[in-house]
Amino acid sequence: MSDGRHPFANQRIAVMGLGRAGLPAARALQRLGATVRAWDDTPQALVDAREAGLPTGPLDDLAGFDALLLSPGIPHTLPAPHKVAQAARQAAVPILCDVEFLFRAVRATGSSARFVGITGTNGKSTTTALLGHMLHVAGVPHAVGGNLGPAALDLPMLGSDGVYVLEMSSYMLERIATVRFDAATMLNLSADHLDRHGDMAGYAHAKRRIFDRQDSSCVGVIGQDDALTAATEVSPARLVRISAEQPQAGGVWAEGTQLRDDAVVLADLARAPALPGSHNAQNAAAAAALALALGVSRENIAAGIASFAGLPHRQERVGVRHGVVFVNDSKATNADSAARALACYERIQWIAGGIGKAGGISGLAGNFPRIAQAWLIGRDAEIFAATLALHGVAHRVVGTLEAAVAEAAAAARAGETVLLSPAAASFDQFANFEARGDRFRALVANLANGKAA
Ligand code: ADP
Repeated sequence: MSDGRHPFANQRIAVMGLGRAGLPAARALQRLGATVRAWDDTPQALVDAREAGLPTGPLDDLAGFDALLLSPGIPHTLPAPHKVAQAARQAAVPILCDVEFLFRAVRATGSSARFVGITGTNGKSTTTALLGHMLHVAGVPHAVGGNLGPAALDLPMLGSDGVYVLEMSSYMLERIATVRFDAATMLNLSADHLDRHGDMAGYAHAKRRIFDRQDSSCVGVIGQDDALTAATEVSPARLVRISAEQPQAGGVWAEGTQLRDDAVVLADLARAPALPGSHNAQNAAAAAALALALGVSRENIAAGIASFAGLPHRQERVGVRHGVVFVNDSKATNADSAARALACYERIQWIAGGIGKAGGISGLAGNFPRIAQAWLIGRDAEIFAATLALHGVAHRVVGTLEAAVAEAAAAARAGETVLLSPAAASFDQFANFEARGDRFRALVANLANGKAA
């Protein structure tokens, strides 16, 4: 029987990809009444799934299934569709992400909890966490997750007074079908994930799906600091413009370090240590605009900004040694996000490299004068080196993070910053950006302890 507690009773759901989000999602779907068949291409993941009590089986033929929950990391179109995605298409089975199931499960309980979606190329996690913190300060029942983790189906069921704050990647946005975000934001757009979306237009199109199904009771918060994002249409939702640079009538913007709307100065960002740089002014403006749309008071917004602790791996200060500050910005997996961090420090020993994105680091030339020396690691080190050579920036290809930290620490003078802001993905050398940042933090701690790095 389908009821509030078992919204997926009588439904057969295939779950492909049993990683960090997939396994808990499959179990949650079972708990919510679905008949699940789970699969992963890695034998160990299948063993783990069986131990967790999940029925496993190949998903080559999906006839008779109601939906496929496909892990966001597995493509269904570009660069090449996974064979399970092809099977879904053949059997006309919708391919969904876990946020879609969360939305359906919440609505099945009769709850009209509000949903907030946050997307953009950079700043999603910071904005998501900051809005969650503002709601915490305001005492509003809420749950924070999505791409940021925890996985959507691990979040608690909230009543009608609750708010879900969900970080949405472009991969997830391609796989929602009925979700309607009461408030949603697009922060910015720059080249990323083009292998999966074909080109910028395809990527922007996927991201703009965050505003699908919004009506005139909903709010769309749009970053104005790049032309592609600013051109986003949200009608019939109410448009709220945000900017780190320019006043926005009816919106939220930064004037110097002051974050403001038409009525008042909301906060002084100079007093928000976890939100350095103009990129964080954009994130704070978006979070404040969303919070205002949700009815949070200006006092609570200000208190939330001032007391926000920040997130690990985003310009995280991990140590100071002989007057040299070490900053872990491992999350900067593309050039645009690295540019934001580079702009925050005067004289930088820069650790970069890994799997570069379209355009490499040529877009960073404006920041090159701040770089005392670059220490290059990972697969595309030579490509980055060629760009730096062209601009006369001192650099060395050192290969590993271990070597980079040792060399950069030895070279750094008091007052300089050793900045890991790789402008590249980590998968050539690390499981993910978190592992890269954790390793950096450990290497810096070892320096401080006088141990060999
Ligand atoms: P996301 O979740 O979108 O990857 P994060 O909040 O985790 O974004 O930030 C990732 C990195 O991107 C940060 O370390 C910072 O260098 C950079 N960044 C953060 N916010 C912005 C922004 N609004 N615009 C450009 N770069 C940003």
